[in-house]
Amino acid sequence: MSNNCDYCVTAHDSVKEMHSFLRSMGYKHTFFERVKRQGAICYFGEQGRCCTLCPDGPCRIKRRAPKGKCGIDADGLAARNLLRLVNQGGAAYTHDFKTTLKTLKAISEGKSPFTVKDRKKMVWFAQKLGIETDGTDREIIGRIADYLEKEFMKDTTQPLDIIRKLAPESRVKIWERLGIIPGGYIFESHEASTKVMPNIDTDFMDLSLTSLRLGLSAGFLANIATTIIRDIIFGSPDITKGYADIGVLDKDYVNIVVHGHVPWMGSVVARMAKEKRFQDMAKEAGAKGIKVYGSLCTGQEMLQRPETAKYLDGQVGNWLTQEFVAATGAVDAFLMDKNCAAPGLADLVQKVKLHTKLIPVSSVVRLRDVPVDSSVIYDPEIVEKQAEKLILESIEAYKNRRKTYPVHIPDKKTDYIAGFGVESLLNILGGTPDPLLEAIQAGAIKGVVGLVSCTTMKNGHGTFTYEFVKELLKKDILVLITGCASSLAQAEGFTNKEAIDKFAGEGLKGVCKVLGIPPVLNFGSCLDTGRMIHLIIALSEYLGVDPSQLPVIAAAPEYYNNDAYIDGLLAVSMGINTYVNPIPPIVGGPAFTRLLTRDLEDILGGKFIVEPDPIKAAELIEKELEKKLN
Ligand code: SF4
Ligand code: SF4
Repeated sequence: MSNNCDYCVTAHDSVKEMHSFLRSMGYKHTFFERVKRQGAICYFGEQGRCCTLCPDGPCRIKRRAPKGKCGIDADGLAARNLLRLVNQGGAAYTHDFKTTLKTLKAISEGKSPFTVKDRKKMVWFAQKLGIETDGTDREIIGRIADYLEKEFMKDTTQPLDIIRKLAPESRVKIWERLGIIPGGYIFESHEASTKVMPNIDTDFMDLSLTSLRLGLSAGFLANIATTIIRDIIFGSPDITKGYADIGVLDKDYVNIVVHGHVPWMGSVVARMAKEKRFQDMAKEAGAKGIKVYGSLCTGQEMLQRPETAKYLDGQVGNWLTQEFVAATGAVDAFLMDKNCAAPGLADLVQKVKLHTKLIPVSSVVRLRDVPVDSSVIYDPEIVEKQAEKLILESIEAYKNRRKTYPVHIPDKKTDYIAGFGVESLLNILGGTPDPLLEAIQAGAIKGVVGLVSCTTMKNGHGTFTYEFVKELLKKDILVLITGCASSLAQAEGFTNKEAIDKFAGEGLKGVCKVLGIPPVLNFGSCLDTGRMIHLIIALSEYLGVDPSQLPVIAAAPEYYNNDAYIDGLLAVSMGINTYVNPIPPIVGGPAFTRLLTRDLEDILGGKFIVEPDPIKAAELIEKELEKKLN
């Protein structure tokens, strides 16, 4: 389908095609049109120089008005704005942690169908935390849940024990010196929420330290502990294969998309949908059966492990793809877990009069005019009953497909390899990280970039990440990827074997061929940045060096959601230089910007790097990696 649209900028041909399809039907309300209608971005807000906190505002910091009406300066204002975003991101990430905790409790009481799939990891984790490992799986899980709950609820004056137990000693010393070893997220967040009210904390240094505390608190509880728990329950990552992009949809089936961030409900729905009784019901309804597809990070979580990946029929895309996935007319139900349920999706379904059911399965996901059925809000104790109801509703929705809607599925899908984590990577390397480290020492690989991203609407959908990753690979830099950027990488062919010859530089090409790995390794969902940190900790322990000395850079080339701030702060706190794009709203505060992009390196060993051009950003990263190796 031809696309003569001059504003539809995306890395994906499938999205372009679907956009043309929608335009041919007269629908002009996708995110491409919304971006256009919004027009130029206000640079006060973009730079963090605007404040709307009290009715005397909004105040805007400018040369002739360097302070807000209350007297706050540009640095305080930008740092306070950033802390608000960080706090929100941490709340969202620890919401996943809370759901995980609830699930663990139910498992320990024998009330949930989930069981332990990786006992070895459970025992390792319990031992690391100093927890008794005698007894049944349920008993050990119960003790882990109690420990984590206590940690979550700790006051700000009670340092998290999990940090001391899991982080390298060299890091703990630095954090102690700075006074940033946090308590549990509930009270850290409470403290931060209080500080950001007008006229309480206006010191950019203290506000910055508070952001770092939130980053460590949410980072260790959500990113690190939650990832480990998911590995224990679903199994640790191991190599899986499949297909990604909108073309995975099959119009002849009842199609269910498990969408969002949290894999609990999706994994049960996908497993149960394969049962004969449901497949038969779908056939009776006129379909060939039922297929379940991953979307965003829920999908990325599920395709990381053979145990859950085997029930998935493909990954449809990243968060900005959702409107176009629905527009195919072939999706019967979106099961919407937290987060990233875009309002534009509901708008499209309503305006185009699609039969597609949007069904929130999380206590926090709500969309205007989309009914909520409280009986299917995820509950680990009745999750199978809930999954059954959701499958039946999807079959009903299939029966209501509009005969007049011209179902359109782009003929585009790409094969991927997924399932990389500490254990599976070590297996590939033959049991030790030596082959990788030797390749770096020999100069075949210049280092590793740990990438997390959502994709944004700012520079075109995914195009920035596409160019950035291409450039890194050309420079012989191995990329580990998480979040919605993984969906982009899968659809654009970065994560299969063909990518070696197509994208990798000579050195990286050789290493990938010997090891039989793609040049971009899928590490999972955005929360799985915890898995990358786990790898960094393991490497620093193996080499007996602080993480800041490793040839590793973190990158978020198209961050969108506020939980990405937690990823970035966690990485920087670990001493890892971290590239972020779009430029965060900090540059309105000159001293605050200097702190984050320069001085932080002296204090923490890691700093933020900003650069709005993907080619130059890759060059900067190459230089930073070279510095680490010298
Ligand atoms: S808190 Fe201060 S800077 Fe913010 S709107 Fe009120 S007066 Fe203006
Ligand atoms: S990577 Fe970003 S957009 Fe994608 S699911 Fe995670 S938070 Fe949402």
